[in-house]
Amino acid sequence: MEKRKKIYEGKAKILYETDNPDLLIQYFKDDATAFNAAKKGTINQKGIMNNKISSKIFEYLESKGIPTHYEKMLNEREMLVKRVQIIPIEVIVRNIAAGSLCKLLGLEEGLKLACPTLEYCYKEDKLNDPMINEYHIRALKLAKDEDIETIKKYAFKINDLMKEFFKSLSIDLIDFKLEFGKFKGKVILADEISPDTCRLWEVGTGKKLDKDRFRRDLGNIEEAYQEVLARVTR
Ligand code: UDP
Repeated sequence: MEKRKKIYEGKAKILYETDNPDLLIQYFKDDATAFNAAKKGTINQKGIMNNKISSKIFEYLESKGIPTHYEKMLNEREMLVKRVQIIPIEVIVRNIAAGSLCKLLGLEEGLKLACPTLEYCYKEDKLNDPMINEYHIRALKLAKDEDIETIKKYAFKINDLMKEFFKSLSIDLIDFKLEFGKFKGKVILADEISPDTCRLWEVGTGKKLDKDRFRRDLGNIEEAYQEVLARVTR
């Protein structure tokens, strides 16, 4: 696979074209940002760990019937992916209250939600990724109705699958963020799934094994990501 022009550089990843117009190389960086890049840093080896963790999770989800952009891992920091048109919406699913939901609704962190919730945020950094609903999605033509339905269906299925997957590794899946794209007319899961995009708490101890260690300066960030990687690949 020949790596060609850089087409996009985001906060945590870079995308390169390849000699195949349908495929891109997704390169994982060590850079970490939080609070819409107000806090910046690096987490040693993060790119490698997130590439490996994400690859495992995409393989698992594919094996359970979820279409994803994942093709294969090329090397420690690079994943071959399908070239999708990203739908500019972040889809957040929650099982336990944490982060922005606690702030929004005045909830105690750790409160078990009576059922999983789903939120949409408009991917627009200069607006701080504001929460929107399906009417906004329609009004701004961010996605077609049928694609919204597909996204919802996949998001809850992915939640069920990932909850079970992590539970078997003695990790509770608190919440996570997904991004979807269109490939040859179909909605598929894109981006990454990693401790950067999920909240993961160790069963029993409640120890945070995710980016909250960076957001809140809890220390031992790299160790936490390594712990997730070790469990996911064992
Ligand atoms: N999340 C993400 N990218 C974002 C915003 C959120 O990956 O731009 C993830 C975050 O890691 C957490 C979940 O989505 O697992 C819910 O995040 P929340 O809305 O609580 O926001 P935060 O506390 O990160 O501001």
